[in-house]
Amino acid sequence: MMSENVFLKSIEENFKKAASFLDLDEGLANKIMVNNSTYVVRFGVRLRGELHTFTGYRSVHSEHFEPVKGGIRFNEHVTLEEVEALASLMTYKCALMEIPFGGSKGGLIINPSDWNETELERITRRFTQELAKRDLINPSQNVPAPDVGTGEREMAWMADEYKRLNPTDLHAWACVTGKPAGKGGIAGRTEATGRGIQYGLQEFFRHKIDVEKTGLSGNLKGKRVIVQGLGNVGYHAALFLSTEDGALITHVLERGGAVVNENGIDIVSLHAHIMEHGTVKGFDGFVKSGSEMLESDADILIPAAMELVITKDNASNIKTPLIIEAANGPISAEGDAILCDRGIVVIPDLYANAGGVTVSYFEWIKNLTRIRFGRLQRRQSENHFDAIISGVEMMTGKTFPTDLRDRALTGATELDLVRSGL
Ligand code: GLU
Repeated sequence: MMSENVFLKSIEENFKKAASFLDLDEGLANKIMVNNSTYVVRFGVRLRGELHTFTGYRSVHSEHFEPVKGGIRFNEHVTLEEVEALASLMTYKCALMEIPFGGSKGGLIINPSDWNETELERITRRFTQELAKRDLINPSQNVPAPDVGTGEREMAWMADEYKRLNPTDLHAWACVTGKPAGKGGIAGRTEATGRGIQYGLQEFFRHKIDVEKTGLSGNLKGKRVIVQGLGNVGYHAALFLSTEDGALITHVLERGGAVVNENGIDIVSLHAHIMEHGTVKGFDGFVKSGSEMLESDADILIPAAMELVITKDNASNIKTPLIIEAANGPISAEGDAILCDRGIVVIPDLYANAGGVTVSYFEWIKNLTRIRFGRLQRRQSENHFDAIISGVEMMTGKTFPTDLRDRALTGATELDLVRSGL
């Protein structure tokens, strides 16, 4: 998003602060911090009778585990430094979640709304070919996933292109995650990051000492929430919090304005409105506003769009006592220091938005092993199911809880497995 490398510097500053608590040799700390390699590719695609040149990136932050893992972003403001910063966040995120992946991230400089679906498919396939040449998409080396501007559709194109290039690769479908369920995907992946935000907040409210620090009390019921960005992550977080936990989504900030309703916004209707009109304009409670809406009065703030939306310029004005980072890097290091001084509690991105890559891990395992984690079908015998469970236990080194084993026979889902920590 940023033209200078403010974002990368901010992530590095955070890393140095964290490293200072460890007894780490300075040279080693520096080696861990920097990205191992970043590939820049410029490729041409003939579209509308003209040759268009696109620039894409795939950065590998650390290969301490392979494959390396992380999304691919389609956005017109993508920069090399941004992709590097995001790749390093993937390393730390996977480490925190104990997912055996290194960190990577990709980006393509493009405004997806400038192109129709057929054109986007050609561009995505072409980009995939370039990445495949250098094993920057590969089931055992580098496994992309959705990010800002990409979703199931783009992942299906990428997987299909990889499969075409590698027709005899038994594990070809494991080359990307976030695929549609019918194309090697896994139930629950699309909503996983938003679900993780919900679980993160539920856990927070279970720990009374943490809650006391915010001056809030009780649970999520009736809490007033500001959601910035109603993309995949923001939408699912807002949906689950409002329909399952009784939270009131009082503000939704989007491009071109915001929707405000102190009684709680109907997220399903708002989402349908955005899908139909491409904007929040015209929805009940619409107000023309910019980022100053982040400074509104509420209990919880969920920045769920891009990096660096809370910086030294506005951190002093934030009123919510609790922030959960649904996006990657929405708070700058300087902004974070100000919030910390003011006693505002931040649930950090590495933990909060790790639901996506956690479910990606299960999708990857599923593709490699041919073990289906889906709802148990009647034709599957109990023996068959026992074999599946034993397989998962072997791979993860963890024991399947007995109650879940019993429930599984009557229809556990992949998400139950994820929830159980397997
Ligand atoms: N792009 C997501 C993230 O930032 C998901 C990455 C993945 O599933 O590999 O965590």
